[in-house]
Amino acid sequence: MKKLIVANWKMNPETIAEARSLLSRSLTVISKNKSIDFLAAVPTPYLGDAAFKKRAKYLAGQNVSWAENGALTGEFSAKMLYSLGVKYAIVGHSERREYFFENEEIIAKKIQKCFEAGIRPILCVGESTAIRRKGLDLVKIYLKDQLRQIIAGTEHSLISKIVFVYEPVWAVGAEEADDPESSAELINHMKSTLKEFFGLPKPKVLYGGSVDGSNIREIFAQKPIDGVLAGRASIDPGEFAKLVKNAKI
Ligand code: PEP
Repeated sequence: MKKLIVANWKMNPETIAEARSLLSRSLTVISKNKSIDFLAAVPTPYLGDAAFKKRAKYLAGQNVSWAENGALTGEFSAKMLYSLGVKYAIVGHSERREYFFENEEIIAKKIQKCFEAGIRPILCVGESTAIRRKGLDLVKIYLKDQLRQIIAGTEHSLISKIVFVYEPVWAVGAEEADDPESSAELINHMKSTLKEFFGLPKPKVLYGGSVDGSNIREIFAQKPIDGVLAGRASIDPGEFAKLVKNAKI
């Protein structure tokens, strides 16, 4: 199975001209590595641009509203994303949890709205530093709880459409990624949980947190890791080219 690279541009780059150039450079680089699939989660205002709409199959939203429509200034719905040709959206990113106070209940509603609109959620879960310090056994309990709280109400036939991301909060925007063996162990545990509770035989689970051109080889050497969510490395064309080149498996 091909591994998946999801680029999370966050609130970058600053202009549409730079964004068009970043997208076309990223896709050129990606076209040279046939062993990976690719999605770019780009800032919402760029999704409606003609150059982006043309490449909608490579695009993802970075968020969606938990609501359908209405008096929610600044929000946008999953249906709106879908109407632009976008088929994926990140949900539950740690930055949304920290700065926009999103909790498991809100995230569960967002997942529901994604499915109603035909969008596949890219769902991020992961522990804080405090939990990680207590050891992997506790992290496993935490991840199991997070998954159950978020997707317990989701129809089983839809859960297989979720792209899961194990993204430890402390590794996002950090100096170093998690060590790949620990991530692989935790991702295996997530896969067992998803099988045990939701009957999912082969869920897709990515790793996210300080992935770059220097550590991708080691990360992709771990079989349970089905891909990565990359932030900073995806907006630096040189680093992204290195990441994709070293992502050959
Ligand atoms: C992210 O945005 O999800 C992320 C993992 O960022 P970074 O790669 O910069 O740590």
